[in-house]
Amino acid sequence: MTKVRVRFAPSPTGALHIGGIRTALYNFLLARKTGGTMILRIEDTDQTRFVPGAEKYILESLAWVGIKIDEGVGPGGPHAPYRQSERKDIYSRYASQLVADGKAYYAFDTEADLEEMRKRTPNAQYDAATRMSMKNALTLSKEEVSSRIAGGAPHVVRLLVSPGQEVLVNDLIRGEVNVSTSQLDDKVLMKSDGMPTYHLANVVDDHLMEISHVIRGEEWLPSAPHHVLLYKAFGWESSMPRFAHLPLLLKPDGNGKLSKRDADRMGFPIFPLNWTDPKTNETSTGFRETGYLPEAMINFLVMLGWNPGTPQEIFSQAELIEAFSLERVGKAGAKFDILKAQWYNQHYLRAKPIAELSEYLLSALKNQNISCSADRAIQIVTALKDRVTYPQDFWEQGKLFFVAPDKFDDAAVSRKWNAEAVKFLKAFRDEVGKEPGLNAERAKGLMEEVAVSQAVKPGQVLAALRIALTGGMAGPDLMQTIEILGGEETARRIAFALQSLSAS
Ligand code: GLU
Repeated sequence: MTKVRVRFAPSPTGALHIGGIRTALYNFLLARKTGGTMILRIEDTDQTRFVPGAEKYILESLAWVGIKIDEGVGPGGPHAPYRQSERKDIYSRYASQLVADGKAYYAFDTEADLEEMRKRTPNAQYDAATRMSMKNALTLSKEEVSSRIAGGAPHVVRLLVSPGQEVLVNDLIRGEVNVSTSQLDDKVLMKSDGMPTYHLANVVDDHLMEISHVIRGEEWLPSAPHHVLLYKAFGWESSMPRFAHLPLLLKPDGNGKLSKRDADRMGFPIFPLNWTDPKTNETSTGFRETGYLPEAMINFLVMLGWNPGTPQEIFSQAELIEAFSLERVGKAGAKFDILKAQWYNQHYLRAKPIAELSEYLLSALKNQNISCSADRAIQIVTALKDRVTYPQDFWEQGKLFFVAPDKFDDAAVSRKWNAEAVKFLKAFRDEVGKEPGLNAERAKGLMEEVAVSQAVKPGQVLAALRIALTGGMAGPDLMQTIEILGGEETARRIAFALQSLSAS
């Protein structure tokens, strides 16, 4: 078996879409599973779409989710350079070779010429049907072509596609895809700015870098027949990589491809990290900054298209490497179910040691200049652990232990605050204030005793107690809340609520 060498080949045209991380992940898992090599190549030959900062963003995103690059931009390696803009000479050499072999040709058509062609024949493309009416090396004399090239006339190099043949793309996920060359245009390989197109650079590099598997998004499937033709034109067919085109990521409801606009509208991130578009200054919040943990991200993403064939849903990176195979990647588009991403995040957050979780709270408290002992932080985090989705929730939901409510939820008050509750709260305030160090169990006992003495049912008054302590109806277990606040603070908050709410 040839050694597995896979590459992630993003273009630095903006923030990396989260789908790019999935593509990188599948490549990485195959490399790790087979003892192969994971390569990062930056495809930056389209100067018009180059965005400063995008390459750094890609590297940082991969590092964040724990995808380690063995070779390429970053670590370097035997096929350096790995940035296509630094490999220009290589591509022009290979393009010249194709021209010399009669597999590609120079074309001199201007934008206006191409426009004219499309006007003449609607839906026309540059191919066997049209090329003979255009300005290229097939229609102009040899002398004319040489003098134009020598005189520096703008020109491109096009692949000569012979019509009426079948091209077979053998895809590991989609099976055999057959396309007739009559449908394929004479793709531009070298542009007039001397830069290669994606197609040429991609194929030349995959060959030179000895890539064994091309694993990429389904949007590249239409390019694959041209790539196969290029391998043939170069005479590299026998070492052509295997193709695997990954299914699309769909909107959560499954209706159509997931776009940034959809994500924005539904209020979830689409980029791994925060990003500020250098052109528009538009900022986007990343998954990392939203509070997603890398292990949750990996787990969520791997399931978008792959399944283990068992009900197992939680996988460590080591388990994924063990379980992953391209055979278990499906063709069907994968719904981007953000609730599942949150579920994974909750899982991985809860699985962390309590001391680590309490650090989230302690650092938020530090930012707010609020002091708190390590023990108390642990106590709070323990009470909140099963209620949080993101690390910052420990502060969001835990601040009630540090900041007493100064106003109360009107809707809750109008439903739950009544004479019975007031009677109970007055008595409970007096009792609980005498027991500064009570625990949850004792708080419950005390609450029951007071309920009996005041002849009320706990169910009638507990909501009002919660309103008094937290300002609203949400929060962790009420008795635990009392334990954490302590008897005196509990009494103080009840007194304040009684005063504020009876005055209104
Ligand atoms: N540069 C292409 C991209 O941005 C790479 C596609 C491929 O992997 O061949 O996704």
